[in-house]
This record gives sequence, structure tokens and C-alpha cells, in this order.
Amino acid sequence: MKAYDEFFSFCDGISCRYSNFALLSNFTTFHIGGKADVMIFPDNVEKLSSAIRYINEHSIRYMTIGKGSNLLFSDEGFKGVIINLVDLDGIELIDETTIRCQSGVSLAKLCRFAFDNSLTGLEFAYGIPGCVGGAAFMNAGAYGGEMKNVVVSCDHITPDGKSETFSGEELDYGYRHSVYSGRNLVISSVTMKLEKGEQADIKAQMDILLSKRKEKQPLEFPSAGSTFKRPEGYFAGALIEQNGLKGYSVGGARVSEKHAGFIINFNNATCKDVLGVIDHCRKTVFESTGVTLEPEVIYVE
Ligand SMILES: Cc1cc2nc3c(=O)[nH]c(=O)nc-3n(C[C@H](O)[C@H](O)[C@H](O)COP(=O)(O)OP(=O)(O)OC[C@H]3O[C@@H](n4cnc5c(N)ncnc54)[C@H](O)[C@@H]3O)c2cc1C
Repeated sequence: MKAYDEFFSFCDGISCRYSNFALLSNFTTFHIGGKADVMIFPDNVEKLSSAIRYINEHSIRYMTIGKGSNLLFSDEGFKGVIINLVDLDGIELIDETTIRCQSGVSLAKLCRFAFDNSLTGLEFAYGIPGCVGGAAFMNAGAYGGEMKNVVVSCDHITPDGKSETFSGEELDYGYRHSVYSGRNLVISSVTMKLEKGEQADIKAQMDILLSKRKEKQPLEFPSAGSTFKRPEGYFAGALIEQNGLKGYSVGGARVSEKHAGFIINFNNATCKDVLGVIDHCRKTVFESTGVTLEPEVIYVE
């Protein structure tokens, strides 16, 4: 790791935790992915911003992750630095109905915090296994709710290490899309406006949605959630099922028998196995229906 010696000294200097040759399969819900050259874990915004500035000044390749629950990393790993935000996990109530939290806070922790403060509006997110930053990045949604409905602003760090803010309108939210899609900005915190509610109702709704997930989704296997985006006018899972692809496998990856919208890692799947299943599903569905399935899972080489 000679090439990174200077970067390690920099990390030591700002007391930023790092590890070299971090196995990405340990940091993704798919449990797939080779080694990243380096993974860093900034635990405050100052460290995050200094690291981003340093990395850009030295033209080092990098990528940000939260819980890695929407990611498929290559078996060859990642040549560069992974900025893992899970240690950026502060959360606070700024007024009676407004929560501000750092981007590494898990959605589970956020939903519990909202519940503790009798705030409604986030129940849909209970059970999505990501972080707030990842959810705000791609407008995560479920059961009729989406981040768009609650996020009022996001703070982010620019490549030169400056802090900036996008307001709700500037976020340009759409289906699994935001202003951040395809841009090199790292969300550092997210502010959400909720409504006062009854704790009993909030809890009941969270419980209902969680049991629906347990009933319908193959949560007993590693996956990255829905493999494909919902094509307009269709459901990806239904198209895959109608084409007889439930159970279709390549190596250790398989179209779930329980929910055809999920590809599961049932037996030490490689990234190549998953890509094989994805390609076959796309090809088969396109040939029989003319519908193009666009992956929701983000593949990183
Ligand atoms: C069992 C299961 C069920 C799921 N159910 C749902 C569901 O109901 N609805 C839904 O929408 N999704 C669902 N998902 C997918 C996933 O949990 C969400 O997309 C989640 O929001 C991703 O968050 P993350 O922290 O894991 O992001 P990651 O997977 O770590 O990253 C995803 C993308 O966001 C970017 N990113 C992450 N953090 C930041 C940041 N702070 N700043 C800038 N970019 C960032 C990454 O670079 C990457 O491009 C499910 C996944 C699983 C495994």
C-alpha cells in the first residue's frame, strides 16, 4: 500500500479511522465484493470535508457508501478510497417537528427517534436497511411513502471540501432520483419535517409494514432489495415471474422464489453470478414483452 502511505499519514493526522484492503462483502447487504484499496470512516463533518478535499487534490478515485444496501461491487473490488459514512451518526430535534440527522444514521435509528418523539411521516422507511444519506441520495420509498415527502433540505460536501445546502425544491426528487444522482457531492446531513402523531398509531403502522416485508420479501437471504426499477405501467417482479424465471440461478445467485423482484445470494454468490442472473432476466423479459428492465441496484466496478 505504498501508494497510499501519504494518505494514511493524513488520516492519522486528522484522527480518521481507516483500513486498507477492506473486504467489500463485509460492507454490503449482498455480501458480495472484493477488496477496496482503502476504506475510511470519518466520524464528523470536518474530517469528512478534509478527507474529500485531500482525495480530490490528489486525484484519488473515491466513492461514498452508507449501509451498502443498494450496491453490487465487482469481485475484483474497488481501486480507490471508499468513504464509509456509518460513523457519522448524530441525530437531533431542531424544533417540535423537525429532525436533522447526519447521513450515516440508519433508517431504523431515524424511525425509532421519530417514534420516540411522537412524529409521523417516516413509517414507510422502517425496514429499509439503508442510511439516511443513501435514502436521501436516491429518494428511497416504500408503501406509498418516499423521502421526497419529508426531506426539506440536505447539506453536502463539494469536491473542494466546502459545505453547501440544497433546499427541498433544489433536490429535484423523482422516482429513485435526486439532484445528487450522477454527481460528485457527498451528503453530510439531512433535515426532515414531520407531523405530530400518536405513538400508538405510529408503532402500529411500523409493525404492519415490517410484517408485510417479512411476509413478502426473502429477508432470510442476503440481497440488495429490488433488483430492478419499476418500469412504467408494470411491476418488474411480476414480469420476471410471468416469464417463468422464479428460481433461475447462476452459481450462487438466484431469482427469489418468494419475490421475483429480488435476486438473492443463496450460496456464496459472486458479482459475476448476479450479473448473469440480471442479464438473463432483462433479455428474457425484453424478448417476450418489449419492456426494458433498468437495474435499481448500482453496480460498481
Ligand atoms: C432487503 C432490502 C429491502 C429494501 N427495500 C427498499 C425499499 O423498500 N425501498 C427502497 O427505496 N430501497 C430499498 N432497498 C434498497 C436500499 O436499502 C435503499 O436504496 C437505501 O436507501 C440505500 O441506502 P444505503 O445507505 O445502503 O446506500 P448505499 O447502498 O451504501 O449507497 C447507494 C448509493 O447512494 C450513494 N450514497 C450513499 N450515501 C451517500 C451520501 N451520504 N452522499 C452521497 N451519496 C451517497 C452511494 O454512492 C450509492 O451510489 C432495500 C434493500 C434491501 C437489502
